[in-house]
Amino acid sequence: MNLISKSFLYNFLYFIANQLIKYYNPCQIHKDIDGETVCVYYLKWCCRDCKFLGPNGCTTKCLGCKLHLCTKAANVNAGLYKVFSKMKSIARKHELDGIRRSKKEVMNRLSLKYNEAKSAT
Ligand code: SF4
Ligand code: SF4
Repeated sequence: MNLISKSFLYNFLYFIANQLIKYYNPCQIHKDIDGETVCVYYLKWCCRDCKFLGPNGCTTKCLGCKLHLCTKAANVNAGLYKVFSKMKSIARKHELDGIRRSKKEVMNRLSLKYNEAKSAT
């Protein structure tokens, strides 16, 4: 699969995951009484201390994060977890996964790999 197709696949998987997250809202991110952003299960939610976390949430596009559910969220949302697991294996197969890794970083890494393979032939 070439880079353009991989980019398209990335966007497609991200779009589906985003719609499912919006619908099922498994993490229920909200502000606690101290104004801290937290999720439904943990004070130290997934995004804490991430370089991409801005005042209004994630500032990048990260498929790996979009498809991630912790054990508690996965247990409560078993159907969603199953779908995400399938989507994750597609993403992994095409090297589009990675937690806390922007789409730009993923595509740059793939582009480098393609160029290296080309120059080796
Ligand atoms: S995956 Fe789990 S820990 Fe991460 S934000 Fe969602 S509920 Fe919180
Ligand atoms: S890259 Fe992942 S961990 Fe970082 S802010 Fe975005 S969703 Fe959260």
